[in-house]
Amino acid sequence: MNSSNKCYFCKTNEVVDYKNVQLLRKFMTPSYKIMPKRLTKLCAKHQRAVGRAIKRARIIALLPFTPR
Ligand SMILES: [Zn+2]
Repeated sequence: MNSSNKCYFCKTNEVVDYKNVQLLRKFMTPSYKIMPKRLTKLCAKHQRAVGRAIKRARIIALLPFTPR
């Protein structure tokens, strides 16, 4: 584990892409919920972007909706 306090996307310069399911999966819990900011360590801007990307991926069925 990397103890840097910088957010993953700021650090790597990667773009939050809703098609990059592998990457989005890292910011989701095992039950496909969006992880809270304190776990993702993302900055507010990227936390929002990840949330949006996950929602979008769900809509186009790349990711399952949270099971009930
Ligand atoms: Zn960031």
